[in-house]
Amino acid sequence: MAILELVNLTKYYEVNGNRLPVLDGISASLGEGEFVGLIGPSGCGKSTLFNIICGLVKPDGGTLLLDGREGGSPRDVVSYMPQKDLLFPWRSVLDNVVLAREVAGENREAAKREARSLMPLFGLEGFENSFPAQLSGGMRQRAAMMRTALARRPVWLLDEPFGALDAITRKRMQRWILEVWERFKQTVFLVTHDIEEALFLSDRVYVLTPRPARVALHLEVGLSRP
Ligand code: ADP
Ligand code: ADP
Repeated sequence: MAILELVNLTKYYEVNGNRLPVLDGISASLGEGEFVGLIGPSGCGKSTLFNIICGLVKPDGGTLLLDGREGGSPRDVVSYMPQKDLLFPWRSVLDNVVLAREVAGENREAAKREARSLMPLFGLEGFENSFPAQLSGGMRQRAAMMRTALARRPVWLLDEPFGALDAITRKRMQRWILEVWERFKQTVFLVTHDIEEALFLSDRVYVLTPRPARVALHLEVGLSRP
């Protein structure tokens, strides 16, 4: 069964009294544990789509099914990692990554124990008490990803997670994210501008048209992973 299903989603923005379409009937389906890429020119509506999926923006038409249910709470199903990492600069790495669990009112110490055990996988061992400004760009992205992991939701929306990194770091992070995916078996919906990245990582790729976004192409990739 699909964990995330978008059925004919439409969205308009009001600009100077005009209703301008941004999403023109987007349908897509993501199965449990799938890695799905989303590609489209900048400004086509990808962030709008992610904002709809995580409940920050209301669609004007269509249906969003989370774990098979309409009107379910995105908080139970989706974790959103925005394009710009949103680590709080005044919090240590450890205090940043347990944030979702803290906000959910869960036991801080249990969350911190789990975070400590995940530090090696996220390449942050020894940096638990460092602050974001003391980390490299790659480490900050990995910390943001750990926070997403610790939120323990089955669907991860990743908006250009490697976009701001240099080419070599990006290559290493692309291989690394597959290890994370092996470990958590989460469903990933990954926005990227990089077609090669999408083909390397994904089971399937949706390609969107320029605004207003429609699905122009749906590729079954099926490349063997390393
Ligand atoms: P992408 O993530 O693909 O770059 P966005 O979803 O951010 O695209 O934006 C799609 C289009 O909608 C852009 O042209 C953007 O300028 C416009 N847009 C985004 N948010 C708003 C808003 N709140 N009001 C009006 N226009 C918006
Ligand atoms: P990149 O951001 O290029 O991926 P890495 O995160 O792989 O770099 O960093 C490699 C190693 O270098 C880290 O595991 C860490 O030990 C060390 N390192 C990187 N940046 C810093 C830093 N700002 N302060 C201290 N050590 C660092």
